[in-house]
Amino acid sequence: MLVLDTIEAIQHQIFEWKKQGLTIGFVPTMGSLHEGHVELVRTSNSACDKTVVSVFVNATQFNDASDFQKYPRDIDADIDQLADLADIIFTPSHEEMYSNGIPSVHFNFGALETVMEGKYRAGHFNGVGTVVSKLFNIVQPDKAVFGQKDIQQYAIIQQLVRDLSFPIELICNSIIRNEKGLALSSRNKRLSVKGEEVALQLYKAINIVGDRLKSSSKISEAYHLGLECIKEEQDITLDYLEIVDAKTLHEVTSIQKGDEIVICIAAFVDDVRLIDNLLLSI
Ligand code: AMP
Repeated sequence: MLVLDTIEAIQHQIFEWKKQGLTIGFVPTMGSLHEGHVELVRTSNSACDKTVVSVFVNATQFNDASDFQKYPRDIDADIDQLADLADIIFTPSHEEMYSNGIPSVHFNFGALETVMEGKYRAGHFNGVGTVVSKLFNIVQPDKAVFGQKDIQQYAIIQQLVRDLSFPIELICNSIIRNEKGLALSSRNKRLSVKGEEVALQLYKAINIVGDRLKSSSKISEAYHLGLECIKEEQDITLDYLEIVDAKTLHEVTSIQKGDEIVICIAAFVDDVRLIDNLLLSI
């Protein structure tokens, strides 16, 4: 595996591979890798000849400076973890990525960014749109793999690819969880042992909502069951619990057979912001 930290070096290698007719898969990450990321890399490996993983904690997508500072970083462990899995790990510095300053281009993802993460994290999706566009232009992958864990981010990137005609096929992997159900996240490293137990309540809550919606179409009843489940744990500060349409990500007020919905949750545990979701076919 090559460890590259300049745009020039990675573009040179990609150019060589493309000359040989090889296909490139791309997995953008913020590092502190776990099994969820590793699964994305495996998916890329089975879809493409070469896999590039980027590790870049992108300052422009953090709306909270202390969240950016506290974000877990462990580049040596990341390199070890990917050694036999990826072909390139791309680890640019902030200066390398933003050598011309913070881009003046601004993204507006319309209705998709007015809900959930967009509502609670001002400017977040502009930062995501900017960095993903830059990385797509640098790596020029044939396919890019993302996780359902960040379902709104995936919807935003689908729109970005459509709007800007990136010739890239997107792949979405399902959520990888620990044996108890907690969605793996780099941020979990900041949870205390007790916090990790408390955080399980998020998964429990979205499942309670999902189970109820499988047998009853009464959305507000299901929603309140989920809310009560969260209230059982005093150490959770809820940002949102939402039942949304899987395509538009806007709140649903009624459901019928055949609908695809997602139950989404975001909350703080131990001062760590966690998100999770459950896809449901009615
Ligand atoms: P991050 O490093 O958190 O920015 O995530 C990089 C990619 O990994 C994103 O596409 C995430 O959706 C995906 N990802 C993060 N956690 C998981 C997980 N538990 N299961 C599957 N994919 C994940």
